[in-house]
Amino acid sequence: MDRWRDQLNELKEKGMLRFLRTVEGAQGPRVVLDGRDMLLLCSNNYLGLANHPALVEAAREATSRYGVGTGGSRLISGSMKTHVQLEEHLAAFKGTEGALVFNSGYAANTGILQGLLDEGDVIFSDELNHASIIDGCRLARARTVVYPHADVAALEALLTKEARKRRGRFLVVTDGVFSMDGDIAPLPALVRLKERFDALLMVDDAHGTGVLGEGGRGTAAHLGCLEGIDLHMGTFGKALGCAGAYLAASRIVIDSLINHSRSFIFSTSLPPSVPASALAALDIVAGAEGERLRRALWLNREFFARRLQEGGLDLLGSTTQIVPVLTGDPAPTMEAARYLLAESIFVQGIRPPTVPRGRCRLRATVMAVHEPGDLELAAELIIRAVGGEG
Ligand SMILES: *Cc1c(COP(=O)(O)O)cnc(C)c1O
Repeated sequence: MDRWRDQLNELKEKGMLRFLRTVEGAQGPRVVLDGRDMLLLCSNNYLGLANHPALVEAAREATSRYGVGTGGSRLISGSMKTHVQLEEHLAAFKGTEGALVFNSGYAANTGILQGLLDEGDVIFSDELNHASIIDGCRLARARTVVYPHADVAALEALLTKEARKRRGRFLVVTDGVFSMDGDIAPLPALVRLKERFDALLMVDDAHGTGVLGEGGRGTAAHLGCLEGIDLHMGTFGKALGCAGAYLAASRIVIDSLINHSRSFIFSTSLPPSVPASALAALDIVAGAEGERLRRALWLNREFFARRLQEGGLDLLGSTTQIVPVLTGDPAPTMEAARYLLAESIFVQGIRPPTVPRGRCRLRATVMAVHEPGDLELAAELIIRAVGGEG
């Protein structure tokens, strides 16, 4: 206990201690946080679907019909009708032979990489990939080669070097939209490389699914290279407003995961209401309402980012709804976040180990359902908090 207490005290002194805040009510553009009304500027509920009536109704209906629990993992008794319907829908959505639902994005990435790759294989992973990919690399028995962020030439050099002593499969894995920088992976160039080196390409589209591309099909659709991706991973907890994750891929890949992926095999499946809500969300994002929400999200994002840039702030190359504002060290970052909280703006300060040292930031996320007036005020306060040129 003493050791843990010392570690916690040390974190506190460095301004690095993490703790929880409680949101009351549903996830909207404004929330009640620890009893106070706030503008919510750190939610991944980009399209505002988390409390959408159609998703709530789908969950209610599935709960009435199928109950709240599945009683087991997918391979035992827990593969229910809504899981299978969702997988069929996802395969059609991404244009693949099959799809598999996981309980979370974390479970998907760890289970996919562990389940597919073996000794002798090599994973090439972008240095800014999500923590769940990093942990998946650790769990896989393959070797991992980390390449500099979005650096196609560096990746090419590493592939060339590894190809000389190749013994097994190559897999290149990248976020579609990077979760802390809000920039987009150079997917068309990665497709060309993976073809040249006979590698597989996996894209984690947690932040692109529902938001980018025609019908919300994600980053690869946005960049016109959907067919070039071998493993389409995405999540339901962000723009799709509920929970869980998927992989869409060839039948062989899906069947391999059903047989080898430990996070898939050894875990009780999602409650039947969750795939039901995810299906309702996919219907919305593919239709006219999805188009309208994406347009609103884009207008909000452009407006908000422009105001911050006019204030002289460094947005770290973001081109999406994830808008980081560089602050540098932990102490001023947390000071800025505290100031904004006092001004009723809920935005998260991000520190190591989530981001590299010296690259601390405020990470703002824009939603389709934000009011422009609220975003205008938030931008002004952020500029003041970070010491920009208001
Ligand atoms: C959020 C996120 C995950 C994890 O998904 P969960 O469903 O929240 O576990 C994986 N990858 C990326 C890039 C993410 O942003």
